[in-house]
Amino acid sequence: VSSPTPSGGPAPTGPSEQSPRTPIGATVLGYPRIGPDRELKRALERYWAGRIDEAELHEVARKIRVDTWRGLADAGLDTIPSNTFSYYDQVLDTATLFGALPSRFTRLGAGPTDTYFAAARGVQDAPAMEMTKWFDTNYHYLVPELGPDSTFSVAGSKPIEEYREARALGLETRPVLVGPVTFLLLSKAADGAPEGFRPIELLDKLLPAYVELLRTLHDEGVRWVQLDEPAFAADRTQSELDALARAYQALGSARERPGIMVAGYFGGLGDALGLLARSPIEALAVDLVTDPSTVDAVAAERGLRDKEVVAGVVDGRNIWRVDVDGALARAATLLGTAGTVGVGTSCSLLHVPYDVDRETGIDARVRDWLAFAGQKVDEVVLIGRALREGQESVAAQLETARSATRDRAGAGDLRDQRVRARLEALKPEHTRRGDYATRAAAQQEALKLPALPSTTIGSFPQTGEVRRQRAAYRAGRIGAEDYRAAMRAEVERVVRLQEDLGLDVLVHGEPERNDMVQYFAEQLAGFAATEHGWVQSYGSRCVRPPVLYGDVSRPAPMTVEWAKYAQSLTERPVKGMLTAPVTILAWSFVRDDQPLADTARQVALAIRDEVHDLESAGIRVIQVDEPALRELLPLRAAEHKAYFDWAVESFRLATSGISDATQIHTHMCYSEFGDILPAIEAIDADVTSIEAARSRMEVLTDLDEAGFSRGVGPGVYDIHSPRVPDVDEVSSLLRTAVEAVPAERVWVNPDCGLKTRGYAEVEPALRNLVTAARQVRAQL
Ligand code: GLN
Ligand code: ZN
Repeated sequence: VSSPTPSGGPAPTGPSEQSPRTPIGATVLGYPRIGPDRELKRALERYWAGRIDEAELHEVARKIRVDTWRGLADAGLDTIPSNTFSYYDQVLDTATLFGALPSRFTRLGAGPTDTYFAAARGVQDAPAMEMTKWFDTNYHYLVPELGPDSTFSVAGSKPIEEYREARALGLETRPVLVGPVTFLLLSKAADGAPEGFRPIELLDKLLPAYVELLRTLHDEGVRWVQLDEPAFAADRTQSELDALARAYQALGSARERPGIMVAGYFGGLGDALGLLARSPIEALAVDLVTDPSTVDAVAAERGLRDKEVVAGVVDGRNIWRVDVDGALARAATLLGTAGTVGVGTSCSLLHVPYDVDRETGIDARVRDWLAFAGQKVDEVVLIGRALREGQESVAAQLETARSATRDRAGAGDLRDQRVRARLEALKPEHTRRGDYATRAAAQQEALKLPALPSTTIGSFPQTGEVRRQRAAYRAGRIGAEDYRAAMRAEVERVVRLQEDLGLDVLVHGEPERNDMVQYFAEQLAGFAATEHGWVQSYGSRCVRPPVLYGDVSRPAPMTVEWAKYAQSLTERPVKGMLTAPVTILAWSFVRDDQPLADTARQVALAIRDEVHDLESAGIRVIQVDEPALRELLPLRAAEHKAYFDWAVESFRLATSGISDATQIHTHMCYSEFGDILPAIEAIDADVTSIEAARSRMEVLTDLDEAGFSRGVGPGVYDIHSPRVPDVDEVSSLLRTAVEAVPAERVWVNPDCGLKTRGYAEVEPALRNLVTAARQVRAQL
């Protein structure tokens, strides 16, 4: 586009009789809130440990908010959001705001702050609210529990207080709220709600509370609010779409209210787009990044002529510099459709780290291809100016951005001809193993395991000593040899312990691994690690995803030495431990210049090399963890098949070409297996261990109904809790398991790795697990 001009028209004023509202213009939908140096994490953990008081915690939070607002305003955004800060989670904030916390927390009689944290983290006798993934991101929210008797009122004042706090600094902000329909769709029926009750049935009770809040905000002088409705980027039923239409008809018709911008993100809005276009709201923020066809759908929408559309052209979830010309073209496409076109991020910037300029450890050339939250704000401002004032006004900045994009596109070192040639030479037999029955027989012959063999998922407790050794090695305080000796000593200790406990298939315990993805990313070509690139996962927990920027290959074996050493210590089989391709992708920032399926195949080849080397080194059981298989599942069912095709293929590519006698295990956690059951069979692992203790083995019935026919290790020890299960409890779970699945296919193991637990619980728990396995085995 050459210097597009904004299509003018007076800004909509909404029904309230206020001065004309200025457009939203260049904005972001949300911002990280953990603090550039994870200040909030530290303050929260100190507060929970009783080491600082509430006032100190609030002061840290206030400073994060103030710095964020000032930073956004100084960068030149036209409007800035507020209420994007959270002490824990925005869905929990919404439940609190509308007085919808479960009564087991409100009844505790604690103050508001501690009641809130009790709901998030649980206290004695009041288990925490359930936590689950926020759409297809790695962020987790707390699931509200609602029943037919739930009531709603404006019980809190957080958005109002934060608006005032910013205004006191001279900054006008746009409070951001989870929209009413998404809030209800993300909620679950409370225990005791009648069968078939769905929280969305409460919409008519919830809307008056939103209307009241809008009026309060209006009285404060708030000009715009942002209501997030990402639930409509997923498939929705007609009645859910009707609920959306009804909600915005009601909110839009409220008499005294700020302008309403509805934000739909994580994909296109599908049928919800037209409904929102026809509803009496003033603005709509759309995600033009996730689904490339969205821009055409929005451009074809007639009902947007009197509305502002904020074109979400800067990716809020990935860390690549924006292609400014592509972004400008997409935003400009909407000029003829919308009353006003603003420019924004595709979603909140919550999902990216703060500032790429601090990453001095990343090769300067690669770093120049990246944009974190701070840089993305500048991109939004730049594109907004180019759109409004013409490209000449920002010619130099556009040129800088273009040259980085060109450099990345032309970078030969992104492409490794050897990797590409291997991929091209792939044939169907590279993803196929012998038939399962033959394999099972060969493996039994080789391993001679008893019925109901017992094992663990891989990691053993990471003691303070282990962490200290790793930290000392990283910091250069101890050399490679000392480090290696310390880790070997730990491996030996863990092997001896497992022999003593009587486990059948042993592990080396993973002491040398910080994280199951980062450990591999650090050793694979094509990845860069960040130093400060923390992203909130939930509450005070953060992850630091590696950046997958080029073709992936494995320069040298990554785990063989550890597995071999562990195997040298024992006659029992030691299980090698790897991470599977989808999980590596899901927990990294991935390149956006080729289909994910291609990147997955490259990662699969690298893991395949490791599998082959482990086998050659005499490792007879190899576990390839794929806990994130569910995580990358697209929000729309129409895309599921294509996803499963490449996800399953990448696992099979990583785990085939080996002897029938080599046993492949995989491990999956997270309780929502429903959608991925067919894939669990299709990946063709010999044994799959899954989380099952909390659901009391229910998943086995589901697997059986889905036709699952291979070995399965339903977790019999819930490692998320410090509780030690006794022998009877484990035997009873095992008896349930052997009723659901033929005993010769059942394995005995905990729900997940043990690295976050302490030996004080793990030892007795595993002892009970082995005893229970022997008991039930004897009764078969
Ligand atoms: N092997 C890994 C461990 O035991 C698996 C972790 C996971 O599933 N998240 O720690
Ligand atoms: Zn797990």
